[in-house]
Amino acid sequence: MLKFDHVSKMYKGGKKAVNNLSLEFKKGEFIVFIGPSGCGKTTTMKMINRLIEPSEGSIYINGENILEKDPVQLRREIGYVIQQIGLFPHMTIQENISLVPKLLKWPEEKRRTRARELLELVDMTPEYLERFPHELSGGQQQRIGVLRALAADQSLILMDEPFGALDPITRDSLQEEFKKLQQKLGKTIVFVTHDMDEALKLADQIVILRDGQLVQVGTPDEILRNPANDFVEEFIGKERLVQARPNIQTVGQVMNPNPVTVTEDKTLSEAIQIMKHHRVDALLVIDEKQVLKGYIDVEIIDQTRKKATHVGDVLVRELLTVDKDTLVRDTIRKILKKGMKYVPVIDQKQ
Ligand code: ADP
Ligand code: MG
Repeated sequence: MLKFDHVSKMYKGGKKAVNNLSLEFKKGEFIVFIGPSGCGKTTTMKMINRLIEPSEGSIYINGENILEKDPVQLRREIGYVIQQIGLFPHMTIQENISLVPKLLKWPEEKRRTRARELLELVDMTPEYLERFPHELSGGQQQRIGVLRALAADQSLILMDEPFGALDPITRDSLQEEFKKLQQKLGKTIVFVTHDMDEALKLADQIVILRDGQLVQVGTPDEILRNPANDFVEEFIGKERLVQARPNIQTVGQVMNPNPVTVTEDKTLSEAIQIMKHHRVDALLVIDEKQVLKGYIDVEIIDQTRKKATHVGDVLVRELLTVDKDTLVRDTIRKILKKGMKYVPVIDQKQ
């Protein structure tokens, strides 16, 4: 579906912003480019819709060399979302969503139907269509921005840090929603972020860049299990450890007949010490703050390698009625699917 063939970009008077990138992706994949600021993410993305022309190499979409296509036509075939919300304040939500379909000369009725369908996908009622952006919350505006990229039903969508400016709670729920939407609609997404947590959450394939060079490409699992070098390890480690530190509330163990419980005030490194001492195989970290938000974030820490494996978010649909044991059992099912050992979990409050 999308192929980079020895692609480089040299800006005038600059060094190589992208250096000899060769990559290939399948249709329907969620591809996340990640790396520190200035590593060439935006440049790479903009070469896909020819907002930037490569200095060397070429890019193929469905086998077609994009350099042989009319750029205006190409851009109509590719959705594009950038960080700035960019809704037009004097246009209604309907008009904002329908910008590209209108350009593509879709009939009025089809544009309305499409906008209504899209709103439904994010649980917003059709009344919003007649409102103006300032009548919506920041999170809702961002949703509309995302919907706009989906409106013309293009099969490839580029997104440059689209959730970067959001508060963490809105970002979390939009990520969750968007991932579901993407799977449902079967879109191929190229997504840029500098946030490893976001990458691990969304990606089918993560591409790690540094100084314009490809460092590693793989599934989140492959990258977590086998970081290519210290750079990747540090990039994962730092962010994941900071992430996992607050509120370690529940610990499971399997080797030791005595349950081990780490209380809330323990940091991850203390938890690992306790695991070593008790020869615990795996640690289940449940962040209580996230429970309050409606999500439980679960990670398995492999004792021998001290690396976090992200098992995924467990959505708590009805916090008051779902008993925690059921939830944990579901989690364990996920763990088993991943081929890991069974981990009984003991809640410190029981
Ligand atoms: P990222 O999106 O990962 O932060 P960019 O792709 O924006 O990185 O930039 C990669 C490198 O290219 C940086 O060193 C940046 O300074 C440089 N660069 C980006 N745009 C231009 C430009 N128009 N002219 C010259 N240099 C640029
Ligand atoms: Mg950028």
